[in-house]
Amino acid sequence: MSVDILVSEVGPRDGLQSLDLIMPTEAKKAWIRAEAAAGVPEIEVGSFVPPKLLPQMADCEELVRYAVTIPGLHVTTLAPNLKGVERAVAAGAHKVSIPVSASETHSKANVRKNHAEMLEEVRRINEMLDELPEERRPIFEAGIATAFGCTMEGPVPESKVLELAHALVEAGCREVGLSDTTGYANPAQIRRLVRMVRSEIGEEKLTGVHLHNTRGLGLANAMAALEEGITTLDSSLGGIGGCPFAPGASGNIVTEDLVFMLESMGLNTGIDLDRLLKVRDVVNEALPSTEMYGFTPEAGLPLGFRPGWGTA
Ligand code: ZN
Repeated sequence: MSVDILVSEVGPRDGLQSLDLIMPTEAKKAWIRAEAAAGVPEIEVGSFVPPKLLPQMADCEELVRYAVTIPGLHVTTLAPNLKGVERAVAAGAHKVSIPVSASETHSKANVRKNHAEMLEEVRRINEMLDELPEERRPIFEAGIATAFGCTMEGPVPESKVLELAHALVEAGCREVGLSDTTGYANPAQIRRLVRMVRSEIGEEKLTGVHLHNTRGLGLANAMAALEEGITTLDSSLGGIGGCPFAPGASGNIVTEDLVFMLESMGLNTGIDLDRLLKVRDVVNEALPSTEMYGFTPEAGLPLGFRPGWGTA
């Protein structure tokens, strides 16, 4: 992928899993297809969690099998445990992420495991993956959830995040990501933690962050991450999702606004903004009652806009 910054669309996973309605599988496929056609290089299509826990994600296997047939699209999924990663491998996912929460309280609530149990799970997953022939082995990444604060514990000590990042690499992970699961992060904190984690585990092992726009700091945080050398940013179309306990709070950073910022600055994302903005119609048609956010879609592209115009 010859892009400067990799925008990874997580709406079909992070966005949809926080809604209490279920998007039909065919509509999800239309969304994935339309975004890939707009040039989005990577899409997280679902999560391999038990359907009983998250019925919104029950069609994950079918979506992976579908998405990997789209030429050039990098297909990623989330999986909370070994079983989920095995399902992702069987379906042919190119990349799998496991959420490992820096807050142990959140970890127990989210995946019913404490840190020691989670690290053991990660070790077993890496052993399983090492046995696979290379062409079937997905990229496996641990995303450190609640890295910037937790709705149950409040502040999360940075030492805890560093310790966990180190332990995850020891457990065999080649990549670790940082997730602002709760939308607590600020730009100074992003800078500091990215820098600290990179000096702990090596620059090449932390290349992506997962941000939310809960308090309106999403793009400011993305900018701070970029200036620290981060090259992969997660976002969701229309910022779909949000938190049921924070009315009016959007979910992930808005893909359209993020792409506008990056392309304006002359950073190539490979994404055609005009086409990306039209993908909203596809989602809106299937989820008419779901609020979609974003400033760029609201205002439209500036007159005469072209990628990199703000850099001359
Ligand atoms: Zn998230």
